[in-house]
Amino acid sequence: MVLRAPRAPLEPAELPDLRPAAGQALVRVLACGVCRTDLHVADGELPDPKLPLILGHEVVGEVLDAERFPRGARIGIPWLGWTCGVCVFCKSGRENLCERARFTGYTLDGGYASLALADERYCFPLPDGYGDAEIAPLLCAGLIGHRSLRMAGDARRLGLYGFGAAAHLIAQVARAEGREVYAFTRAGDTAAQEFARELGAVWAGASDQLPPEELDAAILFAPVGALVPLALRAVVKGGTVVCGGIHMSDVPSFPYRLLWGERVLRSVANLTRGDAEEFLALAGRIRLRTRVTSMPLAQANEALSSLREGRLIGAAALVL
Ligand SMILES: [Zn+2]
Ligand SMILES: [Zn+2]
Repeated sequence: MVLRAPRAPLEPAELPDLRPAAGQALVRVLACGVCRTDLHVADGELPDPKLPLILGHEVVGEVLDAERFPRGARIGIPWLGWTCGVCVFCKSGRENLCERARFTGYTLDGGYASLALADERYCFPLPDGYGDAEIAPLLCAGLIGHRSLRMAGDARRLGLYGFGAAAHLIAQVARAEGREVYAFTRAGDTAAQEFARELGAVWAGASDQLPPEELDAAILFAPVGALVPLALRAVVKGGTVVCGGIHMSDVPSFPYRLLWGERVLRSVANLTRGDAEEFLALAGRIRLRTRVTSMPLAQANEALSSLREGRLIGAAALVL
């Protein structure tokens, strides 16, 4: 399914078969998760995508040809597709900030396809015990959630704003670590609130509500800048608010007293290969319940619309 121009629907296309160059893995795509970032790319909210482009950066594939992995192995291809290795960020363990990084399904072709190619240094073997569609959201929603949770430090009372693909995974990790989860959703989204309680949230409510206790940290997964002051208002002195998304609507101005008291506001950008290794190992130890709606690849446009309109509970994945 090919994006030819921003804001145009994806078009089905037959493309020539892919041939791996040295250092590349060729996979048969088993499933590819649908991430909010795909929407931002398709809607032209992120600059300079490769065009035409195959979206998708939560790629679960069966190896057809690779050096690093045996044929038949199940591997994941995530968002971070290539880094330069020589810039100040790469040299200091922060390849997620690499000046010249390339990204799967944005500046490199991704997994809304039957075959995919990737630099095998950026691919990962996947833990057993998860179905193909089930494990797809771990590759971005789970990874970004994990990095965001680490940035939240040892917060015991953790707020999650936007209870979709990332939050539903990371709520389970937070619970396993003995934290209390407070889930914030759009006002009136009782289905998402109920889902959060099922996954162990001690409280679920609307994002403009104050939780019953002050939070030690909050993570924003919804791409809504107006949530920033709301979350700052809900965290205790010294607490942290982490913005987990790649794109957000503008943050409205707010009184300085919401930040005062050594509250920290920060973003999380992309991920490193270290994050992926750490999180996938964790997902092998803690069996995460992923709620995934599987849809055929040919319905990629419908899947994107469902995500845009907030009609999905949990995550979505495309399968052939
Ligand atoms: Zn670099
Ligand atoms: Zn993503």
